[in-house]
Amino acid sequence: MSMFEDIPVEVGVIYEGERIRGEELQVELGGPKCDYKFELVRAKSMDEVEDGKITIIGPDIKDMKEGTRYQTLGIYIEVAGKEVEEELEGVIERRTHEFCNFIQGFMHLNQRYDIWLRLSKKSFQSGLNSLEQIGKVLHRLFKSELPFIEKLQITFITDPNKIAERYKEALEVYDARDARARGMKDDKVETFYGCALCQSFAPSHVCVITPQRFSNCGAISWFDAKAAARVDPKGPVFEIEKGELLDEAKGEYTGVNEAVKKKSLGDVERVWLYTAFGYPHTSCGCFEGSAFYIPEVDGFGLVHRGFKDMTVNGLTYVGIADSTAGGRQVDGFHGISIEYIRSPKFLQADGGWNRVVWLPAEIKERVKEFMPAELVEKIATEKDVANIDELRSFLKEKGHPVVEGWKAEEIKPIEAAEAPTAVPTLRASTAVIPAAGGFRIILKNAKIHAEKVIIKPAPKKE
Ligand code: SF4
Repeated sequence: MSMFEDIPVEVGVIYEGERIRGEELQVELGGPKCDYKFELVRAKSMDEVEDGKITIIGPDIKDMKEGTRYQTLGIYIEVAGKEVEEELEGVIERRTHEFCNFIQGFMHLNQRYDIWLRLSKKSFQSGLNSLEQIGKVLHRLFKSELPFIEKLQITFITDPNKIAERYKEALEVYDARDARARGMKDDKVETFYGCALCQSFAPSHVCVITPQRFSNCGAISWFDAKAAARVDPKGPVFEIEKGELLDEAKGEYTGVNEAVKKKSLGDVERVWLYTAFGYPHTSCGCFEGSAFYIPEVDGFGLVHRGFKDMTVNGLTYVGIADSTAGGRQVDGFHGISIEYIRSPKFLQADGGWNRVVWLPAEIKERVKEFMPAELVEKIATEKDVANIDELRSFLKEKGHPVVEGWKAEEIKPIEAAEAPTAVPTLRASTAVIPAAGGFRIILKNAKIHAEKVIIKPAPKKE
């Protein structure tokens, strides 16, 4: 028996985190190979919204062939109410992820222009065969969970010929939202915000949202979080009194440590907001991109979810995201939003832009005006280099700041040699490696990729 009599499948929090694999899917909407997909919430006046109205522009699920993939999808939600204001659009929109995932056999990943949804064959065969039904569930959940929404209507757009205008509007709105928080500084506020919405996927993950560190998903700014905590105090976004500043460069605050420890149930005890090493901010799985350390050049690569080729270190976005996600603090793998890349505090303890050596051309274009002008041409993209050796030459030739830090013996190219035939991978829930000097290195939940593994006998003691 469903929670809603007119909905043929169950709806509830227990379905959050449910995955639908390729062979189980009836249809896939959005996703990495779909050009047009978005979800957008707009605050409107009361007379502009007809409560409960659901419109479908284009084919409905029942009209799509079994196994359809990368189907165009726009989810355009208009909300109204006395307390509804523009600042709330971002956080209301982010709840679409959670509420879609409450539906049995319906999976929602990511946010904004990156959404990826799947409906299972099983739920389709149970009768869940229309976006109208999905819309009804969303309408009810939004109104019961966020009672300040008095009216809500939803338009689903699946016709690729009719989505362009709304898609353009969505991109403009995302840009305007991102720009709103720029110029604000961490030291000018007493309160940061936390978000624990993604704990259904990564139980130890908490996003810390400050004026200068946008949420990992890129959907919630400090202003958005402030508005959310005010109107929905029992929701996933909460206040963090920042407390005492322990380390300015790394971005460590007593209040942040306490809040994250509490919300992660003790799993994460310290967070350094502005570094990818030591106690870096955790990453759930919804991050817009990832910063990854490249030891061969002692610099960082950046990659975003939409990048489909191989990155400069030979890993795809998926491989890097896999090493980054899960609510862990992984040295050198760091979930980030595009807007955080624009922050003056971006990886400041690690050298910021002086340490960035590679990023996709598309991202370079999007963040160019926030990069130090003298570095723009010194940072490579996939158009300049294809591998680490080429990157090393490029950086030397351009005089990138990391080159000064190279010590000849540490960055000697790995002996000419044959290209590795396979990339060895170590996976272990716990691995104990004896090391010199009586130490042991304990790796928990480790997954290590290495281009080459060299095992040498330890030098004999004199
Ligand atoms: S990525 Fe962070 S801010 Fe975004 S929904 Fe998840 S926990 Fe919240």
